[in-house]
Amino acid sequence: ADSTNKYKRILLKLSGEALAGSKSFGIDPAVLDRMAIEIGQLVGIGIQIGLVIGGGNLFRGKELSDAGLDRVSGDHMGMLATVMNAIAMRDALERSNIATVVMSSISMTGVVDDYDRRKAMRHLSKGEVVIFAAGTGNPFFTTDSAACLRGIEIDADVVFKATNVDGVYDSDPRKNPKAVRYEQLTYNEALEKKLGVMDLTAICLVRDHNMPVRVFNMNEPGALVKVITDRSVGTTMLE
Ligand code: UDP
Repeated sequence: ADSTNKYKRILLKLSGEALAGSKSFGIDPAVLDRMAIEIGQLVGIGIQIGLVIGGGNLFRGKELSDAGLDRVSGDHMGMLATVMNAIAMRDALERSNIATVVMSSISMTGVVDDYDRRKAMRHLSKGEVVIFAAGTGNPFFTTDSAACLRGIEIDADVVFKATNVDGVYDSDPRKNPKAVRYEQLTYNEALEKKLGVMDLTAICLVRDHNMPVRVFNMNEPGALVKVITDRSVGTTMLE
């Protein structure tokens, strides 16, 4: 699907940390507004956007369980954190006049809609942004897996994973100045070389369904339009 000239529908995964900006916890409204503008630019050129936002800026199940909480309770809190991020993002998008729907894997009547694939497809077709919240709805998964799952379900052309590095490197570019960025990578290379693109569950899922994933740096202004229009930006993981 990645070989067509223009993307029609994409799934964009933002980590929770990206919303915290320079802070380590919480949400920075200035960052939200910047992202809303960039997402709006894509909507403006007719690209349909599904969004999955992580929750790591608020809670992660693993960290809570390391601190003594039950893991499943921690994962539930982590998923609820992604709903909070989704509500904040919806707020920013709507302030920029971008029609947005939040669909949650965990019911929260009156706050966000329930996830319904067919309804999501209809919203997307109308050019509305759909934010998929509460991950997969199950503990022991990550929002990377949720992004891959929803991306496959909505028949996205590609899953974009926004990070704070330019792509996937053969070693950590923050530690090794000679680290080399992959422009392309196969699913199996990512798995065999343990490159940490995503967790194994997520990689296996996209591999099984041949869904391309592009990893890119979202920190620079204009990054989103750039990665959409320039195929050499970031790292593309495919078959
Ligand atoms: N989570 C979960 N099931 C899912 C997705 C997320 O239990 O399907 C929980 C898990 O505890 C995770 C937290 O939600 O740590 C926040 O998601 P994630 O760590 O993926 O966020 P990110 O690192 O992308 O900000």
